[in-house]
Amino acid sequence: MNFKSIAKMDLRRLILALTIASALISLANTLYASYQVQRQQLIDAALERNHAYATKLAASTEDFFDSVQQQLGYAAQVISADFTNMAFLAAETERLFLQTDSFNSIAVIDSRAEVLATSPQTLNLVGKQLQTLGATEAITSRKPLISQPYLSTAGNLVVFISHPVSDVHGNYLGAIAGTIYLKHENFLNRLLASHFYQDGSYLYVVDQHRRLIYHPLNERVGTVVEGNAAIEEVISGVSGKKQVLNSRNVEMLAGYAVVPSSGWGIVAQRPKQATLAALDVLMWRVLLNSLPVAAISLLLILWCARMIARPLKQLASGARTMDNPATADEIQRVRSWYYESAELKKAMLLGIGLLQKNINRLRQDAHTDPLTGLGNRRTLENALQTWEMEKTPFSVVSVDVDFFKQVNDSFGHDVGDGVLRQLAQHMRECAREDDVFCRVGGEEFLILLPRTGLFVAQQVAQRLRQQVERADMVPVHHVTISAGIAHWPGSSPDVARVLKIADELLYQAKRQGRNRVEVHEATLTPP
Ligand code: GH3
Ligand code: MG
Ligand code: MG
Repeated sequence: MNFKSIAKMDLRRLILALTIASALISLANTLYASYQVQRQQLIDAALERNHAYATKLAASTEDFFDSVQQQLGYAAQVISADFTNMAFLAAETERLFLQTDSFNSIAVIDSRAEVLATSPQTLNLVGKQLQTLGATEAITSRKPLISQPYLSTAGNLVVFISHPVSDVHGNYLGAIAGTIYLKHENFLNRLLASHFYQDGSYLYVVDQHRRLIYHPLNERVGTVVEGNAAIEEVISGVSGKKQVLNSRNVEMLAGYAVVPSSGWGIVAQRPKQATLAALDVLMWRVLLNSLPVAAISLLLILWCARMIARPLKQLASGARTMDNPATADEIQRVRSWYYESAELKKAMLLGIGLLQKNINRLRQDAHTDPLTGLGNRRTLENALQTWEMEKTPFSVVSVDVDFFKQVNDSFGHDVGDGVLRQLAQHMRECAREDDVFCRVGGEEFLILLPRTGLFVAQQVAQRLRQQVERADMVPVHHVTISAGIAHWPGSSPDVARVLKIADELLYQAKRQGRNRVEVHEATLTPP
């Protein structure tokens, strides 16, 4: 935008542009700020919620382990009483399997990991020595244990939860263990899956080797996840919350907690995108809700801009026509209701007053003879033109001072000027309002008498002549004048001709002895 185009902008548009721009900027700013605040709140809330879920599930899982350890502990006590009775062991194993739905299978092993009883019995393991990680750990440690997940003899991904069996003297007899098949329906994944929610959130469980123990996608169970910050933290035993990138490079809001007895980590997470999706809808709603007030504000702004700009606009239009006498009235009517416009209005009225005064003075000067203050040739021409146009009849009296050269010669030119001034004063005294007096030459005058016939014109001229004759003209004392009178259109329809006739009559008066008035006889009739 260059200065030329700015100059063409009016105040109303400028105010509008400024106000609308500032309204838009502040709206955008508010939207942006509230977007940022809401966004952070949503992220914090999602992180907090996931952390709470993970913590709750870690506690539930811990409870689950406690309760299965108790069940196993009780069964261990029962079977320790008759550990060599295979039928008893089988019955007790069956009872435990049917009584709880915690395990996918139950087995009793002796101190060399040989299987003494299983439930279900279809496993066909009785009499076989278990080489599995769980069994080996159990007989080596002789303590209640939760194993790391491993592939069982039957090819299942298994967690082996065992409790030692000792006789009344504390001699180690073997162990009773329940297994959970991680990829099958089991109590643990029922517990975890019940917390799977619909909005894109999900949770998974890892063991201390980053291996997935539970995942909503069953095929991922057993796989190892590397490079996930939440997993790294949780397997180091720390519970918390974090924004992370998952294995498919999707940003996630994760909460995580540790299951103390197994060292497992439970991670609950939700895609950041899904969490923030609601925010876009919210922002649109905010924008839509603000539209009615914005529309009303816009109308208000339009009205205010108009009110502020109006006095200045009117003053500006007045400024273009300051030489027009009507402008002062226009400006007077401008409602300048605030300080600057009121001051401008005052200044403009003052300026117009001065301008008009100067214009009038100049106009008057242009039509005034400076020596006598009477009209000049221009005044004469104006009057003649107007009357001819309006068809206003008039008489012309042509006046010349008698022997004026002698006045100058005897008293000097300045005294002559003084006499001319005094003469002008006598003329003014004889005048009516509409009469026009002009000094048309050195000591030659024309008197125009509108709507005046020759008879009255002659009376006026005679009166003037007598007044001058009787007057004591300082310092000359005695001065006389001669005059010739003609009438338009009585003497001639041609105005120039009428003036000429009056002039000729003036010289006739001079020839006939001066101090006389000669009238165009042909048209001299009483009114
Ligand atoms: P008359 O008209 O009676 O025939 O004699 P006059 O002496 O007045 O003759 P005319 O009208 O021809 O003379 C004009 C004289 O008026 C010439 C000049 O000395 C004098 N005059 C003209 N203009 C001025 C003027 O502005 N001031 C003065 N003081 N004298 C003027
Ligand atoms: Mg003369
Ligand atoms: Mg003369």
